[in-house]
Amino acid sequence: MKIKIGKAIDNDYVVNEPNVSRYHATLSREDNGCLLLEDLSSTNGTFVNGAQILKKRISPTDKVVLGSDYVLNIPEVLKSNNDYSEEFTSLKKVYDTYIEQKVRIQSSNQFKTRLFQALPFALPGIIGMVIGFSGKGDPIFLVASLVVAVCAPAIGVYLGAKQSAKAPQKLQDLANQFKIDYVCPKCGTFLGEIPWESLANKKQCPISSCKAKWVSE
Ligand SMILES: [Zn+2]
Repeated sequence: MKIKIGKAIDNDYVVNEPNVSRYHATLSREDNGCLLLEDLSSTNGTFVNGAQILKKRISPTDKVVLGSDYVLNIPEVLKSNNDYSEEFTSLKKVYDTYIEQKVRIQSSNQFKTRLFQALPFALPGIIGMVIGFSGKGDPIFLVASLVVAVCAPAIGVYLGAKQSAKAPQKLQDLANQFKIDYVCPKCGTFLGEIPWESLANKKQCPISSCKAKWVSE
């Protein structure tokens, strides 16, 4: 793809500014994905981060000025050509983070649930051992031990159940946020729980009215 930029209306990106030439510059994407900005022998020149250029590889965050003062918004130029590859690339992190957090919530919850359920069963044994070692037959210890033996498993089961009930809420919150973040950068359609790599293979948004290019060619 090559985006023609300038004042003439047959450019891909028309800039109607006094200091901009009719055919001022082109922005193209090389095979390796790099952006290449080329000046088309414009009258007032093309500048990248303050330095005049004829041909230069740029990144979307570079400050590009046409002529003396027109700041060219590179992300806007790319979007005008339906090129959403920069935004699409950043979705990889969104997907990876989602999967990572989901697994973490599920596994940490399993561990805590088991811990809560198992711990109380160990308590009577520990108290029994303490009484045994202390050698005292104090009835208060026996009563306390009995109470713990009866109550602790019930509390443990209760805490375990409470813990396992927390996970669906956390997972729900996570899924809700994912539905907001993992969307087509142009039309905002939720992309589903589909791995980023699979979407990248599709190269563009499947919504027919959208046509956003996710991977530029
Ligand atoms: Zn779309």
